[in-house]
Amino acid sequence: MKITDLKVAIIGNAPVVRITTDEGIDGVGAGETAKPYLKPMVEFYRDMIVGKDPTDVERVMLGIRRMGSFKPWGTAVSAIEMALWDIAGKAAGVPTYKLLGGKIRDKVQVYNGNVRYEREGSEPEHFAADMQKMKDHPYNFSIIKQAVSFHGGMHRTMDNFYYGTPVTKGRYPNRGTITPKGFKYLLKCVEAMLDVLGDDVGLALDCGPGMTVPDALKLAKELEGSNIMWLEDMVTGDYSPFVLADLYKQITPYTSTPIHTGEQIYLRQNFVELIERNAVNVLGPDVADVGGIAEMKFIAEYADLHGILFAPHGTFDGLIGLAVQTHMAAVLPENYIAFELPQAKPEWWLDIMEGGEQFAVTDSHIDVPSTPGLGLTFIPEVAEKYLREEDADFFDD
Ligand SMILES: [Mg+2]
Repeated sequence: MKITDLKVAIIGNAPVVRITTDEGIDGVGAGETAKPYLKPMVEFYRDMIVGKDPTDVERVMLGIRRMGSFKPWGTAVSAIEMALWDIAGKAAGVPTYKLLGGKIRDKVQVYNGNVRYEREGSEPEHFAADMQKMKDHPYNFSIIKQAVSFHGGMHRTMDNFYYGTPVTKGRYPNRGTITPKGFKYLLKCVEAMLDVLGDDVGLALDCGPGMTVPDALKLAKELEGSNIMWLEDMVTGDYSPFVLADLYKQITPYTSTPIHTGEQIYLRQNFVELIERNAVNVLGPDVADVGGIAEMKFIAEYADLHGILFAPHGTFDGLIGLAVQTHMAAVLPENYIAFELPQAKPEWWLDIMEGGEQFAVTDSHIDVPSTPGLGLTFIPEVAEKYLREEDADFFDD
């Protein structure tokens, strides 16, 4: 089998990849929603993969992997890898996870970082009310993640949250020392959420980046004994184009609160330091940024050998990402906790692809599907109307 074309279209706002072959089998992959600017980045790889056998996934990946980088520049490579696994599964007539070692679980746990409500204010009682709504959601989430500190925009919603002048525009990485007043407020908000969740649901907190090392350790120590699932990305994360394991080494060994990072990191090599030095307790790479499904599997296995847990990022990965994460989670070792649920947004994604209903959530879990490949197929007649003019040939062979 040979790859005949690598196509990319912006559907909704997400870069969607379609790889075609000379045997009529195609494969799909996708990047995070709101990354339409990556279209040329995907096209960049076309000449490097056309003519190759897509079922030799690793061989194709070897040719393109080094031409990527930390978030968002690992997206194209990751989306291509997904599409290759989709083809390989379809060609073999088996679900993709069978080619990755086979599933070790029949349903996979997800956590909520995606079902959101408009919070009515920024006081602790508003955090509590918001948490109650998420707790009451029919998906019955077992873990809910909430954004606090810099990640939750506390430097914007209160005066003097930290010793610095917040820049509120764009993606500016605000960073600095939290004031006593800010720290007390942060703790009050967390306590209010913990009260709502009780022992029924785990609370994870996405905190930065932007926190200093002393503040990160202070927060972790304050929350000891409260069964926080993890503190995510306190000092690096999101779009930090670096790892800085040394900073985490000043936090993680000194607290019993689990410390988490990794969503922006590209490739297994960039996890070596975090893992071998036990710089964090939980890793959360994103399958749509790290380099793909097999990359996630390798990192999770290596982390497991070092006593590090795995809770993958994925809130913006869309319907295709949901399918990909389900296959991935089926094969990860037992250090796996849960992946961050992405959803079909807008909901018409469920109309334009066949198979989406297989990934429904019940009691915070998704059943592992048994259909070949990733289990999603475009319905071109329906999907066409969501294509941009310049992408009109996306479904042509
Ligand atoms: Mg995060």
